[in-house]
Amino acid sequence: MILKERTESHELIGMRYLNARKELSADDKFYLSNLEKGFEGELAFDRLAANLSEERYILNDLLLEANHSDFQIDSVIISEGIIHLIDVKNSKEDYVWKDGELYTKKGNKCKNPVNQLNKSDLLFNQFLRDNKLNFLIQSRLVFINPEFTLYNAPEDMPIILPTQINRFMTELNTPSKLNEGHKKLAQTLMTSQQDGRRYSKLPEYTYETLRKGIFCKTCLAKMTIIKKPFLICGNCGSKEKTESAVVRSAKEYKFLFPERRMTISNIIEWCEVELSRRTYLRAMQRNFKEMSNNKNMYYE
Ligand SMILES: [Zn+2]
Repeated sequence: MILKERTESHELIGMRYLNARKELSADDKFYLSNLEKGFEGELAFDRLAANLSEERYILNDLLLEANHSDFQIDSVIISEGIIHLIDVKNSKEDYVWKDGELYTKKGNKCKNPVNQLNKSDLLFNQFLRDNKLNFLIQSRLVFINPEFTLYNAPEDMPIILPTQINRFMTELNTPSKLNEGHKKLAQTLMTSQQDGRRYSKLPEYTYETLRKGIFCKTCLAKMTIIKKPFLICGNCGSKEKTESAVVRSAKEYKFLFPERRMTISNIIEWCEVELSRRTYLRAMQRNFKEMSNNKNMYYE
């Protein structure tokens, strides 16, 4: 049973929005593509986890705090006898394990994923102690991409290679009955979620420097052709209902500038598409809550 669904991280969403609205540096573009790949890998793991039977709680994308440190876990699987912490990696191509470190085939040293996993494992155990919970924990780093190879992979590492995943999932699928203790653990994890914004590192931006407009979901070009009730992308031909496009863009505004108010004038300026004020107003009224403050209307 999935108690917490996976959603794109605050960081991934923010980077996608900024990608359409400003020129990202090469590093930021690379970072965004890694975030996208990471997310795809996690979804691939979810598809495998969906086949687990018996009583189990699955909580995805947990962001917790222990010992004044934030830590993130891709999937926590609570079974009767054991709690699995899963970190998913979607790296592909060939890597080499040497002297306790991970290298690319070309010899570039990578951030050590095992150290990262061990750190999360320690912090998770601390989190349990802080909450007076006592469970057996097992952490695993799952390399999900079938095109990943690790040369010299040591046997005693908490690593699951692509060729071992099916077996690992079978091993996970033990008979399991959950009790009140497991429920309490799951509830504690759910209520201890940290704010993803704290964890998210976005490149600097200001309202003035971001491109205004409604950008195509498919190709990120600015959508300018109006064919009621649709907005059409001149670049790839994708079409979207104007209402949904305005709402989508308003959500980007709120996300990128949480401190700004969504007034109609602000949204019209942000979307920049020449729709009537009435069209904007209707889209906002139907999809957000109308608020007022000294006769100034805004939406939330
Ligand atoms: Zn397009």
